[in-house]
Amino acid sequence: MKVTALAGGTGAAKLLRGLAACVGPRNLTVIGNTGDDLEIWGLHVSPDIDSVTYALAGRLDVERGWGLAGDTFRCLEAMAQLGADSWFNLGDRDLATHILRTQALRDGAALSTVTAHIARDLGVQALILPMSDDSIRTWLRTPEGWLTFQEYFVREKALVEVLEVAYRGAEGARPAPGVLEAIAAAELIVVCPSNPVTSVGPVLAVPGVVHALAGARAPVVGVSPIVAGAAVSGPAGDLMRARGLPVSPVGVALAYAPWLGVLLIDPRDQACVPALLAHGVSPAVADIVMTDREREVALARRVLETLGA
Ligand code: GDP
Repeated sequence: MKVTALAGGTGAAKLLRGLAACVGPRNLTVIGNTGDDLEIWGLHVSPDIDSVTYALAGRLDVERGWGLAGDTFRCLEAMAQLGADSWFNLGDRDLATHILRTQALRDGAALSTVTAHIARDLGVQALILPMSDDSIRTWLRTPEGWLTFQEYFVREKALVEVLEVAYRGAEGARPAPGVLEAIAAAELIVVCPSNPVTSVGPVLAVPGVVHALAGARAPVVGVSPIVAGAAVSGPAGDLMRARGLPVSPVGVALAYAPWLGVLLIDPRDQACVPALLAHGVSPAVADIVMTDREREVALARRVLETLGA
């Protein structure tokens, strides 16, 4: 079974590990968010793509949900001592990824090529595609002005109010090679439990992606990142509110209308079933909070089972 998944970072990483275990990594293509990529210390960092790559390589720091397991932060300490920006945590071994990526981009390679090389060298068998080789950046308007996603999320700890969201650069961008093909060729398309506004939103903002999803022969199955009126983690709730979406599985369904077929929801959100049906989305109730590997695999299996339903 060929599965193509739209993915952010931490929430996606867990489900992707489960999917890779169920269908085999070679049958899995990941379309990753680059809207929260940033340049720090002159290096191109792709936080979501790296989380997914490290997770599928079995190297992700599971406690933190980002970075490499067992990494140290001595360079960060030294940079702070020198007065450099130190609000974005980059581990020592993690730096190798960013240095290599930056070097390759500077030599003219496309982000998709570099992403594939890094994944291959770390032993990842799934195909990881950035949504675009072109620069698309998520900006958030706050009462103090516009911030990039990482400034908002990491530096400001998501404590400032968001008034507006923009995907700068999206209009003129093209999908990375293989993105539209992976959507068209999939037997199942999965929207990971990721932030609908800042993780999946930028992927959908790439011209051609929504059209491809709407025209895909495969069913599209999503997993709600919202459970019982709040995000499982992170600022998805606040950002959905900023976009005028209800903070519930119904808001998730609205963000993915009209091409979402099935949405997996938590038993605590049973009350959303009629509204989801009214929006043309088939709800499937499941244990969607992944607190360990077993639950990741069980949820992946449940996602795959929706095909037969
Ligand atoms: P980020 O870029 O690191 O924020 O990564 P994602 O967008 O992939 O993940 C964050 C989203 O995943 C948040 O909206 C969380 O609510 C959601 N999430 C995290 N863990 C889980 C989980 O175990 N189950 C579900 N259903 N959602 C989760």
